[in-house]
Amino acid sequence: MKKSTLISALLITINSSATFASDVYIESFETYGKEMQSFPGGQEFSNSIQAYYKDVEQTQKSVGYIGKPLALPKPIKVAEGVYTIVGSLIWHNPSNFGLNNNLTFIIFEDGVFVFNAGPNPAVAYSFHQQIKKITDKPVKWVAVENSQGHAYLGASYWVDQGVKNLYSHDVANRDFHNGYPFIKKSWGDRVGHEITETARDVSDKFTTFEDKMTVDVGGGETVQILNFGPGHTPGSTIVYLPSRNIVLPGDLAYNHRMLALFSYTDTQKWAKTFEKFMNTMPKDVLIIPGHGSPTNMAKVKQDTYDYLKFMHKEVKAIIEAGGGIEDTAKIDQSAYQDRPVFEQTHKNNAAHIYKEMVGEDLGQSFE
Ligand SMILES: [Zn+2]
Repeated sequence: MKKSTLISALLITINSSATFASDVYIESFETYGKEMQSFPGGQEFSNSIQAYYKDVEQTQKSVGYIGKPLALPKPIKVAEGVYTIVGSLIWHNPSNFGLNNNLTFIIFEDGVFVFNAGPNPAVAYSFHQQIKKITDKPVKWVAVENSQGHAYLGASYWVDQGVKNLYSHDVANRDFHNGYPFIKKSWGDRVGHEITETARDVSDKFTTFEDKMTVDVGGGETVQILNFGPGHTPGSTIVYLPSRNIVLPGDLAYNHRMLALFSYTDTQKWAKTFEKFMNTMPKDVLIIPGHGSPTNMAKVKQDTYDYLKFMHKEVKAIIEAGGGIEDTAKIDQSAYQDRPVFEQTHKNNAAHIYKEMVGEDLGQSFE
C-alpha cells in the first residue's frame, strides 16, 4: 500500500469512528426533532423531542451507562477481601461482551481498589453491581493494566461514578489517548456498539507513573503500582499487594491461554521484563494473571516466559539456516495446541517473532 493510500485509509477510519462517538439513540431523536420543525405546527413537538434527548444525554453522562446489568461470571474469592472475575479465554466477541481479561477488586479499610476498568461502560457497570453485592465500601481506586480496550474503555464509567484516583503507566496512557478513536471503533465493531458507545477518552483524569508508585489504602496497608519494562504492550501496570502476598501482573503473565502478539508487542523485551518480575517477587506470591485463573509463578513462567524462549530458539534456528518467514509455519507448536486461541495465534506468533528478529515492519493494531 502506498503511503498516501494508507493515510487516506486511516482518515476514513477516523471519520467513520467519529460517527460512533455519540449515541445512535440520541442522534436519531435529534434528527427527528429537527425534522419536525419543518412541519406546520411541528415546533412544539420538536421542542419536546429536543428537551427529551438532551435530558437522556445528560442522564447518560451522569450515570455512565443506562441498561440492564450484563450476565457476567460471578467473582471468585481469591483471598480474604480479594475477588476476581476471570474473563473469557477466547477472542472478544458479542457473547462475552468483550470481557476476555480479568477484572479484580480488593476490599481495603478505606475503600475498594479495582484492577482494569473493563472493555466498555456496560461491563464496568455490571462489574460494579457485583462488587456492591459483596461490600458497601465505595470504589476509590482504579488501575489499568495497559493501553488496550479491555483495560481502558470502561474508565469513563468509573469517572462518572466519582472515582478520582485512576492509575496507568505514562506510556500506556499516551498510547490509549492517541489510539482512542481506533481502539473504540475496533472494540465496538467486535463486541457491539450499543455497549461501547458511551465510552469516552478520560486519559486526562489518570495519574501516571514511570517505575513505581505507592498508594495508601488504609488499615496500615499499601498498594504498589509497578512497571518492570515493556513487553506485551510498551507500557504496563503491575499491582502488588505486599501485605497479602498477591500480585496482578496484567498481560505480563498469562495462565493457560495462548499468548497473543500485536504490532506493538516486543517479545525480546517481554522475556527480559518477565525475568525482572520473577526476580523481584517473593517466590510464593499468589498471581492473578492478565488472562486465566489465579495461580503461582511456576505456572505463569511455563505459559508465558518458557513459550517465548521456546519460540525465540526455534525462529533463531530458522534464520540461521537461511530460512524465510514461511518456514516459521513449520515450527512444531503442538505442545500448546490445547490452549485457547491456539488456532488464531500460533502462526502469527511465529511470524511476528521472525519479523522482530530480522527487523521487518510489524504492522499496526488497535486492540
Ligand atoms: Zn489484554
